Amino acid sequence: MTTVAPPAYDDVTEEFEPVIGLETHVELGTRTKMFCGCPTEFGGEPNTHVCPVCLGLPGSLPVANKAAIEATIRIGLALNCSIASWCRFARKNYFYPDMPKNYQISQYDEPLCSDGWLDIEVDGEIVRIGIERVHLEEDTGKTLHIGGATGRIHGASESLVDYNRAGIPLVEIVTKPVPGTGARAPQIARAYVTELRDVIRSLGVSDVRMEQGSLRCDVNTSLNRPGDDWGTRTETKNVNSLRSVERAVRSEMIRQAGVLRSGGRIIQETRHFHEDTGETTSGRSKEEATDYRYFPEPDLAPLAPDAAWVAELKAALPELPRVHRQRLQTAWGLSDLDMQSVVNAGAVELIETTIAEGASPEAARKWWLGELSRKANETGVELAAIGASPRQVAELQKLVDGGKLTDKLARQVLEGVVAGEGDPAAVMQARGIEVVSDSGALAAAVDEAIAANPEIAEKIRGGNQGAAGVLIGAVMKATKGQADAKTVRELVLSKLS
Ligand code: ADP
Ligand code: MG
Ligand code: ZN
Repeated sequence: MTTVAPPAYDDVTEEFEPVIGLETHVELGTRTKMFCGCPTEFGGEPNTHVCPVCLGLPGSLPVANKAAIEATIRIGLALNCSIASWCRFARKNYFYPDMPKNYQISQYDEPLCSDGWLDIEVDGEIVRIGIERVHLEEDTGKTLHIGGATGRIHGASESLVDYNRAGIPLVEIVTKPVPGTGARAPQIARAYVTELRDVIRSLGVSDVRMEQGSLRCDVNTSLNRPGDDWGTRTETKNVNSLRSVERAVRSEMIRQAGVLRSGGRIIQETRHFHEDTGETTSGRSKEEATDYRYFPEPDLAPLAPDAAWVAELKAALPELPRVHRQRLQTAWGLSDLDMQSVVNAGAVELIETTIAEGASPEAARKWWLGELSRKANETGVELAAIGASPRQVAELQKLVDGGKLTDKLARQVLEGVVAGEGDPAAVMQARGIEVVSDSGALAAAVDEAIAANPEIAEKIRGGNQGAAGVLIGAVMKATKGQADAKTVRELVLSKLS
């Protein structure tokens, strides 16, 4: 058997057109679960946040959580959806050990919100992503496979189930298929999830943390040759970060192109994304809706949100992130391009908070887009998870402004902060970093530099102040960068005038 090397991405997008579609699940931050009074807190001893309803015990009956319905309507409104004046929950029947009732209460043909859109910005261009539906359902529990090497069921000696998560309100947001993105499909997928996350966060209805699973994303991808009908899609799961959204689309496009080129057929299936290899592998073949035997949930009354209430919720929506960003851009005095790089770096809120902690817009932007973005890229973590907080960055800048740190030393301190060594002041102390501005010690270093560079000293004496840079550099080197450049310059000039 010969293995054919996967095609290069550029070749893929030259020959094929991608269609993408995203299904995003968001765990709502309501105090209690969707159909019972159990708490929704993350963590907790296994099976301590449970009751007869969320354990699916016989005879128990669900009652819908009004706060969850309200949150879902607000998400729908923020995504420009129509809100159903009447709709129902539906039973989705399937067996899975982490789902105690053997069915999930969800919504099927009557979603609470439908037919909206979300505008996102990619490379300074607005792309409108259609929203098919926003519906409300309940989360499943979590299964833990123990005794194997991988944490998967294969090779495990036993499996344990934790129902703490079972019944937490879950909103599913499904996009319409997005064609016409060309080579930018991976970027657009990422930009969409980023914007969606920001919108939902601005509503205050979820903490939308991908790493904790309160925002989860399935990525649908298909390819077709120009002029042909859309291809068969695959649905990639296990996409646990924004970066992975982009990588998953890209790698699935490359894989499918390889299959199609060699005359193969794409099978409609679920695939798993692997963070380590950046590739997807086949999961189960995709169920059809009929497999689930959906039917209206008989234990719950239909939902009929009052039009006046919906109008009230609409009027009370907060400023949405795109509008908010435009306002910040003006306040910070940034060009479109500069603002774009702030957005792309995921730094809007970080910079905003850093400014609120007392830094100037320039300084805040400099640290987050410079040193910290570089670190985030190197290590492949989101900027917000880099390990330095806006408060610490503002404190660092205060130390620079107060002459306690030079820019160069500040970068060393920041490294310590990122490494978890504490606040800037603590890192300075622990690492013995400080600006040497004691003129006695500096004077000695300046004298040495003058003695070692007599010709330069002569030039300065002759009035060429520009030559001072060489001596300043020598002093900085001798003091390992800890000298205050301004003081050194004054000393050099006063000694040689
Ligand atoms: P399912 O429950 O089977 O996953 P959904 O309707 O919940 O179905 O979601 C299907 C997703 O796939 C939607 O986001 C939709 O836009 C997207 N999609 C549909 N057809 C295609 C296609 N040909 N290529 C890519 N994505 C598609
Ligand atoms: Mg789906
Ligand atoms: Zn419960």
